[in-house]
Amino acid sequence: MADQDDTARKPGLPRVDLPPDARLETLAVREGLPATPWGENSEALFLTSSFVHPDAATAARRFAGEEEAFVYSRFTNPTVMMMERRLAALEGTEACLATASGMSAILLLCMGLLKSGDHVVCSRSVFGSTIKLLSSEFGKFGVETTYVSQSEPAEWRAAMRPNTRLLFAETPSNPLTEVCDIQALADIAHEGGALLVVDNCFCSPALQQPVKLGADLIIHSGTKYLDGQGRVLAGMVCGPKSIVEGVLVPVMRSAGMSLSPFNAWVVLKGLETLGIRMAAQSANGLALAQWLEAHPAVERVYHPGLASHPQHALAMAQQGGVGGAVLSFIVKSADAVQARERAFAVIDATRICSITANLGDTKTTITHPASTSHGRLSEDQRLAAGITQGLIRVAAGLEHVEDLKVDLARGLDRLV
Ligand SMILES: *Cc1c(COP(=O)(O)O)cnc(C)c1O
Repeated sequence: MADQDDTARKPGLPRVDLPPDARLETLAVREGLPATPWGENSEALFLTSSFVHPDAATAARRFAGEEEAFVYSRFTNPTVMMMERRLAALEGTEACLATASGMSAILLLCMGLLKSGDHVVCSRSVFGSTIKLLSSEFGKFGVETTYVSQSEPAEWRAAMRPNTRLLFAETPSNPLTEVCDIQALADIAHEGGALLVVDNCFCSPALQQPVKLGADLIIHSGTKYLDGQGRVLAGMVCGPKSIVEGVLVPVMRSAGMSLSPFNAWVVLKGLETLGIRMAAQSANGLALAQWLEAHPAVERVYHPGLASHPQHALAMAQQGGVGGAVLSFIVKSADAVQARERAFAVIDATRICSITANLGDTKTTITHPASTSHGRLSEDQRLAAGITQGLIRVAAGLEHVEDLKVDLARGLDRLV
C-alpha cells in the first residue's frame, strides 16, 4: 500500500508514509497524497482544470508520460488521486480509477475490455441500468450478454463460451439481497480465460473485499456508501495496474467520463467514516429485519443476516459476518392489487424514512421497487425477478432503530 513505486500512472509522485501493515480504518483516514507545503491537515480540494509546467521541455516530457506530474484534470488531479489511492488501499487492489458516476465506471470498463464479437455472462439480478447498458448499448456494437441466476454457479459455468471475456456479478443484489459465491465465480471465469467483475456497491470494502476472493476488477457507485450521505454521484474501477492504468486510463483520457475534483473530495472525506457507518447501518438493518420477521403483517423478509436467508452462511463468510444495511420485505395480502395498496400505505405512513429509490445514505430510505427501480419491466419480468407488488425495500440509515420501528409500525400495525 505504501510501497514507493506503486504509481505506474505517475511514477515518482510522493506517497503518504504509512506502515505497510496499516489496517483498513487507518488507510481510510490517512491514504492519499502527502500534504502540500502549507501543511493542511484536511485534504486540499484542487479546483483546477490544468497544471502549469516550468518550461516547454518539461511539458513535453510530461505529455509523453516520461515524467510524472499532474497535467489535465480529465485524467490527473491531486484530489481525485487521493480518493483513488484511498479506495484502492481499502479494496486491496493495486490501482483505482474514478469516474463521474457508477454507470460511467461500468461504461469505462466495458469500453476498455470489450470489443465486437465478445461475450459477457452477467447475473440477472444486477442493477437495472447495468443490464440496459450491456444489452442495449453494447449489444448495438456486437457484444452479446447471457443472463444467469445470481446464486447458481452451474448456470454461470454452462453459459461460458470461448469468446467470454467478462463475468459480471453484484452481491448482495438489489432489492432481494441474493448473494453470489465470489470465489466460485472467479474460478469459473479464470478456467475460461475471462475476468470476474464484482459491483461491490452494497457491501463496500468495509464488509467485503472481492479481490481477496479471486475477483479481478471491482466496480463502485461511490454515490452510495462511499460518499455515504447522498450528496454526489461518483464511480470507480479498482483492479490491477496492468488493466486500470494500462487499459482504462487511456480510454478515460480519450472519452472523459472524469470525476470532478469536488465530488472526489466529498467521497474522500466520506471514506473516512465508511467503517463505522457500515457497522452502524448494518446493525440497524439487521435489527429492522429481525423485527419485521416477527411482525404479523409481514409475509417474508430478505436480509443476508437472517438465518432464514437462503445464502445466510455464504453471506456471513463472504461479508465478514455482517449482512449489510439493505433489506426488503413483503406485506401480507390477498392479491397483487391489495399488495400494492398495502405497500403504498406502509410507505406513505412513514414520517422519518425518505421515500426515494437511492440508498447508502445516513438517512433511511424506503421504496416500492415494482413501481420505481423496477417499474420499466413488464409484470412477467418482475415476477421472474421476484419483485412482487407487496415488496418494500428499506436501506437503513443512522437514525435510532427504535424510531425507525415506530415509523414502519405506523402503517404495518393498521394491516393486522
Ligand atoms: C446505484 C448503483 C449503480 C449506478 O451508480 P450511479 O452512481 O447511480 O451511476 C450501479 N450499481 C449498483 C449496485 C448501484 O446501486
